[in-house]
Amino acid sequence: MTDPLTELLRRRDGPLTRDLVLEPGRFGLGRVPARLQPDDAVEMVCGYCSTGCSLKVHLRQGEAINLTPAPDYPVNLGMACPKGWEALTPLRAPDRATVPLRRNAAGKPEPVDWETALRTFCGRFKELLDRHGPEAVAFLSTGQIVTEEMAFLGVLTRCGLGIEHGDSNTRQCMATSAVAYKQSFGFDAPPYTYADFEASDVLVFVGSNLCIAHPILWQRVLRNPHSPEIIVIDPRRTETAMAATQHLALAPKSDLVLFYGTARALIELGAVDRAFVKAHTTGFDEFARFVQPFTPERVCAETRLSRETFDRFVGSVARGRRVSFWWTMGVNQGHESTRTAQAIINLALMTGNIGRPGTGPNSITGQCNAMGSRLFANITSLVGGHDFADPGQRQKVAAALDLPETRLPRQPCHAYDQILQGIDEGRVKGLWMIATNTAHSWIDQAEARRRLSRLEFLVVQDMYHSTDSARLAHLVLPAAGWGEKTGTFINSERRLGLVKKVARAPGQALSDFRIFQLIAHHWGCGEMFRAWSSPEAVFDLLRRVSRGQPCDISGIRDYAHLEACGGVQWPHALPADGGDPRCEAPARERRLFADGRFFTPDQRARFLFAPPRPMPEPTDAEYPLLLLTGRGSSAQWHTQTRTGKSDVLRKLHAPDAYAEINPADARRLGIADQKPMVIRSRRGTVRALAVVTPTVQPGHLFMPMHYAETNVLTRAEFDPYSRQPSYKACAVSARPA
Ligand code: SF4
Repeated sequence: MTDPLTELLRRRDGPLTRDLVLEPGRFGLGRVPARLQPDDAVEMVCGYCSTGCSLKVHLRQGEAINLTPAPDYPVNLGMACPKGWEALTPLRAPDRATVPLRRNAAGKPEPVDWETALRTFCGRFKELLDRHGPEAVAFLSTGQIVTEEMAFLGVLTRCGLGIEHGDSNTRQCMATSAVAYKQSFGFDAPPYTYADFEASDVLVFVGSNLCIAHPILWQRVLRNPHSPEIIVIDPRRTETAMAATQHLALAPKSDLVLFYGTARALIELGAVDRAFVKAHTTGFDEFARFVQPFTPERVCAETRLSRETFDRFVGSVARGRRVSFWWTMGVNQGHESTRTAQAIINLALMTGNIGRPGTGPNSITGQCNAMGSRLFANITSLVGGHDFADPGQRQKVAAALDLPETRLPRQPCHAYDQILQGIDEGRVKGLWMIATNTAHSWIDQAEARRRLSRLEFLVVQDMYHSTDSARLAHLVLPAAGWGEKTGTFINSERRLGLVKKVARAPGQALSDFRIFQLIAHHWGCGEMFRAWSSPEAVFDLLRRVSRGQPCDISGIRDYAHLEACGGVQWPHALPADGGDPRCEAPARERRLFADGRFFTPDQRARFLFAPPRPMPEPTDAEYPLLLLTGRGSSAQWHTQTRTGKSDVLRKLHAPDAYAEINPADARRLGIADQKPMVIRSRRGTVRALAVVTPTVQPGHLFMPMHYAETNVLTRAEFDPYSRQPSYKACAVSARPA
């Protein structure tokens, strides 16, 4: 009889989509069986950003030769950005991790077989847990793996392996939105659908450079037939600000004051939807009293906006019949980000701009599956957004997942920064990093790297052996990437879409799902995960666990049904009579709260607010400039681990770190355009090419997040509610190199 582990390894990751039978090939796609047409194609959701475009992967004689955007998908309507067009290229990179690597006695990584890698993984982590308790090992994951893998990881670690804490890199981009919605609406529920971009008569973008960060969504804005007012609130004159009808170039981190002042001005103008506020919200009277001191004079003094600019903005919101507010990292990555997001939510609530076409306080997510992570990762809530402390919900989750209730965790995990802090404090000795690159992306990078290097055992599970984090690892587990495995993503507008396997992972690389199965088996808890036999089997578990939740997906019968519907936005519940959900195909575009009922116990939305706090690190004589960060171009993704592999994408952006500086500052400091300069903060010093441009205000520098240099400078500050890092503002100095 075959040993189950050997059997798992032998099966690898199952057949390709449409049962492609593979032979070893240059790129691993092999030959197409006779029953498939030479120019066959499969459609799947893109693996970069949260827009969730559908791409058509074309195959010829078994090779994926190209991609085109899917013409009929309700998200991208036949469009794709440069990253999408180049989505296959990173799979072919020469630095793919193809075999497990373990550091030898001399500290050099050397190839080992999977059996040895798994024995090492389990042996070292078990030893640390036995010696130091359940906090001694933690995990850090991602918004890039499929939902089924996220759920598996969260349940495996916290219910099976006895690891108490883990977090995901969605903490870096979306934790604020999740917490803000949860507190205001009773559930992490972005209310909108992408059709709202085309239905608004006023669109307000806050800290969002949609043109390059979400280019397909910007195309949706351009399709708006109502000649809308497009208002951008951003200290920089971004690409989006240049295309807007109004740009509020406010002082960095003064947005909370602006929104409280806007609320006050709207009350003065009588532009409050009193009927909606009375019927569907709580806390408005307290909020109205709270905003009284935020006079236009105070707003203009603190934001440095002119009175005319402020009044024009307020007037647009007051007059708009369908006003939508959209925010991304400019809000989420701040020291008081949750209250800022809720200040935006308050504006939508008080003006009744929610639940109708073209309205909403709408957070746009970053990573392709940040939304899957937010709901199903078993980190900040029990799987499916359930409450750790609610006995009824615990029973329900345990029954749906076929686990003993006593194995479910009782509290949320420590947040990312608390886990890294735990290394310094000696609580965390071992770390398992999955598809993320902490050594590059975390705030105050030198400190993060110092902490990682203190670990007794660091495992990195990734597509590439060359990332900054993989280079620090004691053990590297080679993982399959997007296109090499199956599962579902959930995009910004709550739409589930399918990811398919159209290529074999190289060498001995395995899907994250298969790696989790192998670890469960090798650890000795494989029996607990008997039902977790494939991504689609896990999808079925998640359907069941979601039943009755705001994010109910029980009405999506299986992957085939999901595909037939062209992606489905949650909720899509099984009909009450248990009938066939196929008979009730969901509308292609749906928004939440059309009935004014929220997910709080009294079904009312909350007005939440707090006094603004000063920026943690203001400029001074030694560090007189404020460093802003953000996306650099639509051709770059995060730490460039994947986009950096594409010759095409590399032609579309600057190769090396650069910083934008205002001409007045450049003149004063003797810094010349396209010449290197030295930028210093209290955390470190870097060199970057100067780009002299009036798009940044005097006194500011802007650096794209994609270059490792940027986080050498950033300062570790966190929003107290979401514990999201404040990447957006810290004090620096600059001089010619
Ligand atoms: Fe992919 Fe996002 Fe580009 Fe669409 S916009 S093709 S989802 S990276």
